[in-house]
Amino acid sequence: MKKLVVLSGAGISAESGIKTFRDSDGLWEGHDIMEVATPEGWQKNPALVLDFYNQRRRNLYEVAPNRAHEVLVELEKYFEVVIITQNVDDLHERAGASNVLHLHGELLKVRSEIDPNTLYETDPNNPDLHLGDTCPKGGQLRPHIVWFGEAVPMIEAAIAHCQSADLFVIVGTSLVVYPAAGLLEYTPPFIPCFLVDKKIPPLESRKNIQVYEGKAGEMLPKLAENLVKNFV
Ligand code: NAD
Repeated sequence: MKKLVVLSGAGISAESGIKTFRDSDGLWEGHDIMEVATPEGWQKNPALVLDFYNQRRRNLYEVAPNRAHEVLVELEKYFEVVIITQNVDDLHERAGASNVLHLHGELLKVRSEIDPNTLYETDPNNPDLHLGDTCPKGGQLRPHIVWFGEAVPMIEAAIAHCQSADLFVIVGTSLVVYPAAGLLEYTPPFIPCFLVDKKIPPLESRKNIQVYEGKAGEMLPKLAENLVKNFV
């Protein structure tokens, strides 16, 4: 089976009802990114940061995967599909995807400030995190989110997948957040590459990328048909 590597971003979850980030002038759900998605923001006002992610988490329980997430699962019949996602939602997993790597963390997981390697799952019946919620060693729990300015521990694994890809698909990302945006550069130079987005971001590096302009839920099924017909 050929290896199909997919890099997904907030746009793939937009039709599920989760707002993207750049679509609203650099604000995320009305919040300044510097306040809610940086270590400095956390130091300054941890209660605000916890509340912000509590709201995102609650919202996640109210939405469902859309056609775009489902199509990627259907492609597992024909390809070894690996999804590298910048999303912190679990919609790929809920659609049934077998192999998902979260570059920027996961909303439904938390970790302690003093032990970054032990992850705890949030309780769906009591999902909010508060100041004073601690790990067994007493460290304050924080969202398992890679904030701007923090290291991206999964990037090495993501690069390795890109290097061994036979086909590469980018969907729903503005390609402005690094190092995720640079992953295309690690794919072998002549493999077929495809980009699905409502508004195609500028792509300087590869001229031969095939573009599907439109909503992910409409364009990914078309791309999938092409992949099955021409590349299996
Ligand atoms: P982004 O918001 O910067 O870009 C979204 C991209 O999706 C844009 O190019 C836009 O044109 C496109 N888009 C919007 N609606 C679409 C649709 N229906 N179909 C296809 N494309 C559509 O998102 P990003 O590049 O992923 O980077 C933002 C960062 O914000 C990520 O690091 C991520 O962790 C975080 N974030 C995550 C979520 C989530 O988990 N669902 C939501 C918002 C932000």
